Amino acid sequence: MKSNKKLLITIDGPAGAGKTTVSRALAKKLGYNYIDTGALYRGIAYKARQKNITETDDNNLKKICENISLKFINIGEEQHLFSDNKDIEPFIRTEEISMLASAISAKSFVRKALLQLQRDLGSKKRAVFEGRDMGTVVFPNADIKFFLKASVDERAARRYKQLGNDSEQSLYDIKKLIIKRDQNDSQRKLAPLKPAEDAIIIDSTAISAEQATEFMLASIFR
Ligand code: C5P
Repeated sequence: MKSNKKLLITIDGPAGAGKTTVSRALAKKLGYNYIDTGALYRGIAYKARQKNITETDDNNLKKICENISLKFINIGEEQHLFSDNKDIEPFIRTEEISMLASAISAKSFVRKALLQLQRDLGSKKRAVFEGRDMGTVVFPNADIKFFLKASVDERAARRYKQLGNDSEQSLYDIKKLIIKRDQNDSQRKLAPLKPAEDAIIIDSTAISAEQATEFMLASIFR
């Protein structure tokens, strides 16, 4: 169902609601680009971690934001984030980086550093953007906005499964981290996680990623 329409589609929602699976599937069906904006925040967090810079060290975090070069490169079906020309995709998905990304993403200079990059990536439309503030702040004029949510238990279970057997964290630990990240992301002053007023809200607790994707396609071609 490739679309000739030039749409910019946003999918916001909390951690573990299935945004990545659904955004990728939707982009593939439409023949659109898929952009995972959380990866950009993870990229800054990862560089800070590498340099032993803590979340309270604004001076050094600012330097990272001023100098970092982030870009996405497709490798086969996968999209990898490159930071300063190095593929950092294998290192940015840990819970430690999730929490650091969430902490630094509340800072105005971090959000500002990534705003133009995200808008540039969307300038040609034909894209599905996944994040927290895509429909509210980055692309308030997006053509179609979705907000994907699910119960915290379901999101923790999905994340636990995704991390696989190698994870040292129990389901209980993961649920605690998700609750903490939800709090950080939705209670921050800047660009808090919330549905845009014109977003279509989908609760994915009891439906599969395929069903959520089909529902979105039906809304797009309505
Ligand atoms: O989506 P993902 O879980 O990879 O995002 C990591 C963190 O980056 C989120 O918890 C959130 O704090 C931050 N983020 C954000 N705005 C976005 C995308 C992610 O603040 N658009």
